[in-house]
Amino acid sequence: MKFCANCVMPDTRPDLEFDERGYCDACCMAERKFGRGTEPIDWDARRRQFEEIIDRYRSPQATGYDCIIPVSGGKDSTYQVHVAKNEYDLRPLCLCFEPTLRTEIGLKNLENLNRMGVDLIQVRRNPIVYEKLVLECFRRVGDMEWPNHAAIWSLPYRFAVAFDIPLILWGEGRMEYAGNFFTDEKHLREMDEVWATDYGVLNGLRPEDLVDEALGITEADMEMYKFPSPEQLGRVGGNKGVLGIFLGYFFNWDVRQQLAVVEELGWSRRLGRVEVTYSDFENLDCLSMNLHDYVKYCKYGYGRATDDACRDVRHGYIDRDQAIRLAERYDGIYPKEAVELFCDKLKISAEEFDAICDSFTNPAIFEMRDGRFVRDIDRGLVMKRGVVESRRTAGQVAA
Ligand SMILES: [Zn+2]
Repeated sequence: MKFCANCVMPDTRPDLEFDERGYCDACCMAERKFGRGTEPIDWDARRRQFEEIIDRYRSPQATGYDCIIPVSGGKDSTYQVHVAKNEYDLRPLCLCFEPTLRTEIGLKNLENLNRMGVDLIQVRRNPIVYEKLVLECFRRVGDMEWPNHAAIWSLPYRFAVAFDIPLILWGEGRMEYAGNFFTDEKHLREMDEVWATDYGVLNGLRPEDLVDEALGITEADMEMYKFPSPEQLGRVGGNKGVLGIFLGYFFNWDVRQQLAVVEELGWSRRLGRVEVTYSDFENLDCLSMNLHDYVKYCKYGYGRATDDACRDVRHGYIDRDQAIRLAERYDGIYPKEAVELFCDKLKISAEEFDAICDSFTNPAIFEMRDGRFVRDIDRGLVMKRGVVESRRTAGQVAA
């Protein structure tokens, strides 16, 4: 297992590539973001590009909506509304798909977003179908958040068709994570069905793959999880078609700077960190995201703490040594509270939950004994010493 020489991201991350210095795509992109590297980004030009787009798509009637903003109540959605409404005087229609395990703080932040003076539609999905999908996707591809992601990506396009609103404003996009080697420029900028299928963590499952008589899931049940047809999308806004763009492509996205802005607008962080990382501002609106991040750790050997530490390294808030310490300390913590709530709601036992996780756990990364994964006294998996060492030394090897 190989790690980036600049941050601490491993090569088990799907699609990650390294340059000759041993830097990962996302670190190379961060250099461009901060005006370094071979093709530094001209943020003034990007902002002008954004302004041209909104001029083209702004509603001709003063009463109409100018764009749809998919929101969760997280810091990103509050920031998206701030940019659209306060900085560009757009009239957004906000759309929230009910999360798997909603938290109180998530709901409070969503109400705060509503009070910024926007119309908000909350979609309460059919819980019977949704819960079947959650369990089925957890068992099949190790991803209980699949139905949530599928709906989050597709639903704004369905509402764009229904309300005849041709512009959708997404948040950060792929600029922060991976980048320039395999993601073409269009998909750093725009979100469409191809993006959702290829990059949108749908794990190769399509909505139609889940239609199943034995499960009791019909084609009609899956309709909400699908994108509208290209013909339907093309007719929106007097044949302009629907354009979904990432704000992170047009504005230099720095989460820690945005926190100051959204907190000023009434958004709150948690008291104390979330279960699976050191930060107190990620994964606040849905407890199930902690489970999603935990299974990611089982599959690939990195979790949300690595994601957070890598972002903080790239933005210059911490050095690589600190990122190693944070990843070692917080990655892979067993999310007890979230597991308990999840098992309670989905009516499975904790043993079954662990057995499903084990079926996706990578034996090349974690210690096994007598055919079973070794767990420490806190129920955490034990990473192989060689993997831990290679994360510690990756930066030195390249230097
Ligand atoms: Zn990196």
